Amino acid sequence: MAIELIDLKKYYPDGTKAVDGLNLTIENNKLTILIGPSGCGKTTTLKMINRLIERTGEDIRFDGTSIDEIDPIQLRRSIGYVIQDVGLFPHMTVFENIAVVPRLLKWDEEKIRKRVNELLELVNLDPEIYRDRYPAQLSGGQKQRVGIARGLAADPDILLMDEPFGAIDPINREKLQDALLEIQDQLKKTIVFVTHDIREAIKLGDKIAILNQGKLVQYDDTEEILRNP
Ligand code: ADP
Ligand code: ADP
Repeated sequence: MAIELIDLKKYYPDGTKAVDGLNLTIENNKLTILIGPSGCGKTTTLKMINRLIERTGEDIRFDGTSIDEIDPIQLRRSIGYVIQDVGLFPHMTVFENIAVVPRLLKWDEEKIRKRVNELLELVNLDPEIYRDRYPAQLSGGQKQRVGIARGLAADPDILLMDEPFGAIDPINREKLQDALLEIQDQLKKTIVFVTHDIREAIKLGDKIAILNQGKLVQYDDTEEILRNP
């Protein structure tokens, strides 16, 4: 699914112009990086796309349809969201954490069971070993894998990832990046990936959008960005 950001703005009530007239077409089935200095509006942009916060500027369109015309439950189903500290629920097992959105969507339990096993295989965690563990019994990298599985649980068209590997040590970070590339190779989602790490951007991105102070500075294929930095 393509995502068009059209003169997108977020002016917070205190006057902060977090996003200030962003025009950007995020292409279907590509992994697009949003990169830029801290405070340039990356997180705010993702939160407007999944409607965790309301925009103040023009529009966001999904394959041409305005976000205002999409049912919020449908939007939640279409968009997976993965953040830095994962936010796994500590009192729930791996299985239950991944099942949150499918249960919200009232899938039957048998379908959910199958789906969770499939997803754990996809992120390279043996379901037999990990399904019934609690988050406290997982390493940081394993938690993040569960976070990715949860983001993909309802087979969304779009995956929004906000510095998902930011808190992971360099070796495990490389492994997670490789896992993400393999997953994308298989699933081909529209992924919007926020980072401030240029090496991560170059490794993962099909396209890179550079932001500064809420505005788009440059947007191109990764190879082009490397050629004309
Ligand atoms: P980034 O993800 O690029 O670091 P953010 O989108 O988190 O940037 O923040 C963009 C700007 O908006 C920053 O100046 C930040 O301080 C500000 N900001 C974020 N959330 C709020 C809020 N709830 N109220 C006021 N200002 C905010
Ligand atoms: P809550 O009711 O506590 O908001 P939900 O049951 O709606 O939680 O979702 C559980 C978790 O699933 C959220 O904390 C969030 O991290 C994740 N999640 C999955 N899809 C989305 C999405 N499209 N937007 C925001 N969060 C999502």
